[in-house]
Amino acid sequence: MTRIRQQNVTAAQWSSNGEALGALDLTLPENNPFGANVFSVAVQRERLPADVFERLQSTLAGGEALDPSLADAVAEAMKEWALENGATHFTHMFQPLTGSTAEKHDSFFEPDKEGSSLAGFSGKELIQGEPDASSFPTGGVRATFEARGYTAWDPTSPAFVLENPNGALLCIPTAFASWTGEALDAKIPLLRSMDALSRSAIKALRLLGDEEAQGVFTTVGPEQEYFLIDEQYYFERPDLISTGRTLFGAKPPKGHELDDHYFGSIPERILACMLEAELEMRKLAIPVKTRHNEVAPNQYEIAPVFENSNVASDHQQLMMQVLESVARRYGLVCLLHEKPFAGVNGSGKHNNWSMATDSGDNLLDPGDTPADNVHFLFFCAAVIQAVNKHQGLLRASVANIGQDHRLGANEAPPAIISIFLGGELQKVFEAIATGSGDPHTPASFLELGATVLPSLPMHGGDRNRTSPFAFTGNKFEFRALGSSMSLAFPNTVLNTIAAEAIDELAGKLEEKTGAGKDVAEAVIEIVKESYSANKQVCFDGDNYDEAWHAEAEQRGLKNLRTTPDALPEVLADQTVAAFEKYRVLSQRELESRYEVWIEQYAIRANIEAETTFSIAKTMILPAALRHLALISQSGVSAVEDEVRGLTDELITALAELEKANAYPDELEGLDMAIHARDEQLAAMDRVREAADKLEKVVSDDLWPLPKYEEMLFIK
Ligand code: ADP
Ligand code: MG
Repeated sequence: MTRIRQQNVTAAQWSSNGEALGALDLTLPENNPFGANVFSVAVQRERLPADVFERLQSTLAGGEALDPSLADAVAEAMKEWALENGATHFTHMFQPLTGSTAEKHDSFFEPDKEGSSLAGFSGKELIQGEPDASSFPTGGVRATFEARGYTAWDPTSPAFVLENPNGALLCIPTAFASWTGEALDAKIPLLRSMDALSRSAIKALRLLGDEEAQGVFTTVGPEQEYFLIDEQYYFERPDLISTGRTLFGAKPPKGHELDDHYFGSIPERILACMLEAELEMRKLAIPVKTRHNEVAPNQYEIAPVFENSNVASDHQQLMMQVLESVARRYGLVCLLHEKPFAGVNGSGKHNNWSMATDSGDNLLDPGDTPADNVHFLFFCAAVIQAVNKHQGLLRASVANIGQDHRLGANEAPPAIISIFLGGELQKVFEAIATGSGDPHTPASFLELGATVLPSLPMHGGDRNRTSPFAFTGNKFEFRALGSSMSLAFPNTVLNTIAAEAIDELAGKLEEKTGAGKDVAEAVIEIVKESYSANKQVCFDGDNYDEAWHAEAEQRGLKNLRTTPDALPEVLADQTVAAFEKYRVLSQRELESRYEVWIEQYAIRANIEAETTFSIAKTMILPAALRHLALISQSGVSAVEDEVRGLTDELITALAELEKANAYPDELEGLDMAIHARDEQLAAMDRVREAADKLEKVVSDDLWPLPKYEEMLFIK
């Protein structure tokens, strides 16, 4: 057997992590550890003094800041609980602008005078940390000489114990801010945007006659796509290790044309890995629910049940971490990159989003009583208005270098943000806009509670898989997120722009009802005006179709194909105005994000370009030359020209890439990103083209990289 074939055999072998198959009987309560590692409300009730517990809960329910006097008692109980669960250290876990999570571990134990150790953990240590923040990106918010940054406990996201084979760690979700109070993380703006939305929505609900709700929170249920490949291949591919995606690889003879993977039976090793990953997630109270094979070979999806946006966002970060670490126990590597394999479907993350009152109403649920329907139409119209106005910003909120291979490339959803309402809901809005009902009414009707209006058809079951922003029954599904992304910023944007639109529509409602108009009639007038002005963003056809791209352009919708095209939207006047007005991010905080993200794009492009160069020069070119030598030796010259031609092509492309990679030092910011996109990534494509053709002709046993058919089909 050749070297490569032998590796395939090794890769295909796996063991079930030492456990006998089926050892865990999940019908037994002790084996169903949901939330076992979480300092949950139930644990708090049990362990905190009754008065402390009550004060803590009422503080949280009221969305108020925590009374520091509570902190010592909470810290003590948390520490005792964590020690009993095997923790020796604690960490303030935060989400800097790098997009991942950060942690620095501190021991509970300190040597005392007699040399033994005491466990200590004060309220102050719980509430505030001071990591050396100088190495986190700040986009100029804080010069390095002011390296101080603070982490602050977020009591609304439960602390938890993270297990390791050799110990455990108490993790405390925290926010991260500069010493001048600017948000340096993803959590602070998300929390601020939830507050902003709550203020606007409560104002609107009062006008709509709801006296019960005291707060509104946003909900998110993410659907995460990912690949699992054998770790042997991963470690043989410097491109996967350094960039998360394959920079080379010819299209395999078998792709996903047969559609035999989607929803197919899950291979045994993969399912074993999923089962263990989900067990870990359940311990952390991540409410995982659905799993299935995705479209591409070796691609899968996992989806938890929705939670409030802040907790959902923290859980999503943890979920990615758990997937990555548990995969390794099965000799697998979890790829979260948006496009690990060219020519094969990439991975995204669907963000199901809605708004709910603390009294239990989903504001995007059409309901079946007239009052609910009027509320629904009001909030739904606000979302349409928000998405139309801030389409560019929504696109920017999901921009990163990996996404450029999906959005705006040959994969859906496209870079054009549009809304799919579904045939029936669209009919409802159209009927309101034109003042006449549709004659072809199906079984169910939306009663508007105003005699002047016809009953309207309503049916929530539509599906349009190509839409980037679809109404799906009782929520909107923002489908353009990338698989590696944090949920925080896209949801910060959604909440903020919805807060703005709700506030604007509420202002109109106040005027109309103040002038004595009936609420239902006033809402219908407002919905009519708003929908008519914003319906250009609604599209129910095939978003992949070229004809749509032309039509969208005619409608004046934005088509921001790449990250450098999209990111300037973060600093657009209307973005700054909305974010400042609703106190989510100041202009300075927006600028810092813009700078960090532009820089990350350029740096990641540069890493890809350098990695491409090195693999092509030191692995692929030598393989081609060896193959040429083999041909010369054989004396058969018929195949020589082809290989020689491709080798020359590779050498020429490499020279161009080398030039593109040596860009002038003075380039920075957007210019650097544009150079990366137009020069480096373009030159990389030419190197790859020559290399992928060589892969098809060079002797298999000389080829230095695992091929697509191996990585994608050996399970
Ligand atoms: P799909 O057909 O797209 O798989 P599902 O109905 O199974 O959709 O739901 C997908 C996700 O939407 C799940 O995570 C679910 O919890 C979430 N979801 C359902 N209702 C809401 C809501 N009100 N707010 C946010 N997410 C929700
Ligand atoms: Mg979905």
